[in-house]
Amino acid sequence: MNFDYSTAQQALIEKTRAFALAEIAPFAVKWDQDEHIPRSQIQKYADAGYFGMTIPTTYGGQGRSALDAILVIEEVARHCGISGRLIVDHNFGAAITILNFGTEEQRQRILPDLCQGKALISIGMTEPDAGSALTDLRTAATSEKDHYILNGTKHWITGAGEREYTLVYARFDGVAGPKGIGAILVHQDMPGFTYAGRIPSMGVRGVQEGILEFHQVRVPKENLVVPAGSAFGQLMSAYNGQRVGASAVALGIAQGAYDFAKNYADQRQQFGKRITDFQVNQFKLADMAIELDAARFLIYRAASHAKAAITDRYESSVAKVYVSEMALRVTNEAIQLCGAQGYSRHLPLERMMRDVRCFTLAGGSAEIQRLGIATKILGRALPQH
Ligand SMILES: Cc1cc2nc3c(=O)[nH]c(=O)nc-3n(C[C@H](O)[C@H](O)[C@H](O)COP(=O)(O)OP(=O)(O)OC[C@H]3O[C@@H](n4cnc5c(N)ncnc54)[C@H](O)[C@@H]3O)c2cc1C
Repeated sequence: MNFDYSTAQQALIEKTRAFALAEIAPFAVKWDQDEHIPRSQIQKYADAGYFGMTIPTTYGGQGRSALDAILVIEEVARHCGISGRLIVDHNFGAAITILNFGTEEQRQRILPDLCQGKALISIGMTEPDAGSALTDLRTAATSEKDHYILNGTKHWITGAGEREYTLVYARFDGVAGPKGIGAILVHQDMPGFTYAGRIPSMGVRGVQEGILEFHQVRVPKENLVVPAGSAFGQLMSAYNGQRVGASAVALGIAQGAYDFAKNYADQRQQFGKRITDFQVNQFKLADMAIELDAARFLIYRAASHAKAAITDRYESSVAKVYVSEMALRVTNEAIQLCGAQGYSRHLPLERMMRDVRCFTLAGGSAEIQRLGIATKILGRALPQH
């Protein structure tokens, strides 16, 4: 077991830190206020080599480890959560599903474009009546000769209306239960594919959360990434890394909030002393640092054990629950340390608090992650129906 960064990782962190300070930090407030991050900015992340870090060079990626991608995400998210999420989406999730479960033709056709930022990708799982109970999803894919006909609605899709591809989880040919679920790649130009509006969210506003509708969309069979009948657990395994990536965003935001509050509190004077001269505030900072360290180790453990950017389900869920809840506590304490100023929109902390709130929900709620952890502990299926 090695707790040190390699020389190459240290260099990657330093390079990313400089990039984030110059190219991201000055604009994070504007993207939040505009509720939009320009595509030209997203292109900078691809050009810097931050998309497809986990994808082999054969498919246009960087061929680096999942942990390397996590280190980049953490650094970026210290200044801007949505930028961190964009990098997650192009190193884990759908991209990794295509890498591990797609066909060779799909890998060659899709992955280089994702790595270069020529195309962006969303994951379309959640439906109005199928959130935590994902296996209840109803979006239907019906086989017809050389294509599938897709009908249904997805909501809360990150990047909806802004990304070329969506990996849509659908029920194939009416087969009930998990066995009927597979994943198919839909392009925004396919007739019948509609972006049906934005869901206004509390935080992470620079990237749209939205609704996608599919009306008789003809999707060629060559776009089938994961056929129905594959074990549902295998289908979902590519999503474990997405959870570790999301945890790294939450960690980065909390670290950013801590750094800001520490500097502020060490300068602010009340009762003729720095407020960090009061032991209660020293202990607050110490507790925050302990939680950040613990979170970091859980994320790094999950990322270090990744194979082709697929992480272990238990380790990913443990990291996601702890880090998403830790990040809320730490960001909240950062506001407390800065007093009323911390609550103002003059400081970045209120944005960080709004942004970090999503992580006990997005990517599978904390309760559902705990269910997965308990399943592993007890060693048996724990049906919810
Ligand atoms: C910012 C954001 C981005 C998102 N991005 C995407 C995306 O890109 N693609 C996508 O497909 N989805 C996305 N989602 C959706 C997300 O995956 C779902 O919100 C999540 O799975 C929970 O589903 P739900 O919101 O329908 O809540 P529900 O399933 O309705 O759950 C409501 C509450 O009940 C609890 N609950 C439900 N069942 C149980 C149970 N058996 N035991 C105990 N508690 C339970 C939940 O934990 C939760 O607290 C995103 C969500 C957010 C907030």
